Amino acid sequence: MQAANGRDAPDRCPGAVQVHEAADGGLARVRLPGGRLTAARLEVLRAAAAELGDPALELTSRGNVQVRALRPGAEHELAARLTDAGLLPSASHERVRNIIASPLGGPAVQRLVEAFDAGLCATPELAGLPGRFLATIDDGRGDVTPLLGDVGLHGSRLVLAGAPTSASGGAELLVRAALAFLAERAAQGSRAWRLAELADGPARVAARLRAVLTGEDLPATGPVEPGVSAHGVVVAVPLGLLAGAQSAALAGAAKEMIVTPWRTVVVPAVPMEEADSTVAGLAAAGLTADPASPWAGVTACAGRPGCAKALADVRADARAAVAAAGAREPGAVPVHWVGCERRCGAPRGRHVEMLATPAGYRSAVV
Ligand code: SF4
Repeated sequence: MQAANGRDAPDRCPGAVQVHEAADGGLARVRLPGGRLTAARLEVLRAAAAELGDPALELTSRGNVQVRALRPGAEHELAARLTDAGLLPSASHERVRNIIASPLGGPAVQRLVEAFDAGLCATPELAGLPGRFLATIDDGRGDVTPLLGDVGLHGSRLVLAGAPTSASGGAELLVRAALAFLAERAAQGSRAWRLAELADGPARVAARLRAVLTGEDLPATGPVEPGVSAHGVVVAVPLGLLAGAQSAALAGAAKEMIVTPWRTVVVPAVPMEEADSTVAGLAAAGLTADPASPWAGVTACAGRPGCAKALADVRADARAAVAAAGAREPGAVPVHWVGCERRCGAPRGRHVEMLATPAGYRSAVV
């Protein structure tokens, strides 16, 4: 029977163990809580992609990494390598470690990410969360709260599906909020994937935590743009595809980096006197820190030939459009190319959608 929210089956989000069979082979998604990635782990991912599947790593709209075109059976070798590298700490919880955090939030945000991730993996019931469930940890700037996590912290304030509540706390509160979602979902007899799909979801989950929705507006900013600042160097990854040479360049630039949900990578804490050489090294690999680059803010789904549903080779078409484009206005709305109406990987919020149809591309601001 189909539930009132339209979900009649569990989600099929891929993981690193439970891969998705795409037209070009197995697709594995590796969760990076808070987007945090060490150079050593990036090197493991780069080598695994080169040896087991498509050499380019895909960055996702949740700041995770995908390896695609895995050969039949290669997922076992991939899982073994990821486990050895510490990238697969919990086989039971791997698909639910969806945590987006403010990329420029520094150590305080990172400690919250680690504490919540540990609490999530240590709570057996939370292995039953849907793979679509998302937690956001916003340092108060308002960069990731607008991505509408199911549960989130904005500073110390609990946010439920984007709605601020009267509750404040840390990682332990987020764990309780995730459990409250599961309890409310069970009480409603629902198979909802997201908290907003539950009837009166935010208010009822807040009530389970003895809190109320406050109805206030929280500050919101846009994506972290490419550029150089005291926080470090932020580079755009063209179409979110990290080629082997680009992974090597990033791994050579820093011991640790942050993959953002906007297909950019933050190389943190680059001393200002080294910024120019870091930027030049990454630019030589095709990773630009120029906010006016026509690559900034342009993303695409897999399209043909990797996806059987695709009506076009959207990546090739996006590349051609970028090659013909002039300088981008910094802060301009993102552009997302998709090969069909499923709209995979679309950025949250206002953007230009280039949708492939049997009659060609249809462009709209959505
Ligand atoms: S949007 Fe359509 S074509 Fe693109 S990856 Fe998703 S299912 Fe495939």
